[in-house]
Amino acid sequence: MSLFVTEGLVKRFGGLLATDQVDLTVAPGEIHALIGPNGAGKSTLVNLVSGLLPADAGRIVLDGVDLTALAPHMRVRHGLARCFQITSVFRNDSVRDNLLLAVQAQAGTSFRCLRRREAETALMDGALALADKVGLADVLDRPAGTLPHGMQKKLDVALALAARPKLLLLDEPMAGMGPEDSLQMVALIDRLRRDTAILLIEHDMDAVFQLADRISVLVYGRVLTSGDAAHVKGHPEVQSVYLGT
Ligand code: ADP
Ligand code: MG
Repeated sequence: MSLFVTEGLVKRFGGLLATDQVDLTVAPGEIHALIGPNGAGKSTLVNLVSGLLPADAGRIVLDGVDLTALAPHMRVRHGLARCFQITSVFRNDSVRDNLLLAVQAQAGTSFRCLRRREAETALMDGALALADKVGLADVLDRPAGTLPHGMQKKLDVALALAARPKLLLLDEPMAGMGPEDSLQMVALIDRLRRDTAILLIEHDMDAVFQLADRISVLVYGRVLTSGDAAHVKGHPEVQSVYLGT
């Protein structure tokens, strides 16, 4: 059973078919990577899924709920979270306050039945659990904007996790990172498979081959092939079109 499905997703920009009948599935607990050359339509697809762009045709379904016509924040409410290529942290606020805000936004009215002290404790516990999960427990007091890039990306992931997503969209989480930060991000994403299914767009092929249960190759808006790392590495068209060999 698929947790997440896109069926026949089409997006046109004028005469250009940026995505052309894209069918994708993500199984529960799966890391599904989407790769493809520049201009293949990867970011367009992420924008269609998260609702930042309306689709011209097709359907997007998460856990049995048709998201296609829903606004982005409603998609989040139904279990879809996204990390942006540009981080969405509040730069002047501490790591702790960024996390508290995200946990509070997610909790919504569910703490209203608690006493104030209990609610504060629950919020703080949630924020600390997220900090632990992404490895930021030692920098809770730092203004988020003063963290190095790799840590800001981790915070960005933690903010997305606060929504307790069923599917997490990661659009180039390793972009702009050096080797050490990339390794840490790979380890983090690997740990997240216990919490959420992941649709991973990433240029770093080592990371993709290490993490992905399945890889789909997008070329000119179409899925050229889908399969595990061995299948994709051995696919002759992928080698010529994408890997450049
Ligand atoms: P990728 O993320 O795989 O590099 P994109 O999804 O950004 O690819 O782009 C796919 C194609 O759609 C490209 O040819 C790009 O120029 C075009 N495109 C993307 N966004 C727009 C837009 N807002 N208006 C017009 N063309 C766009
Ligand atoms: Mg892109």
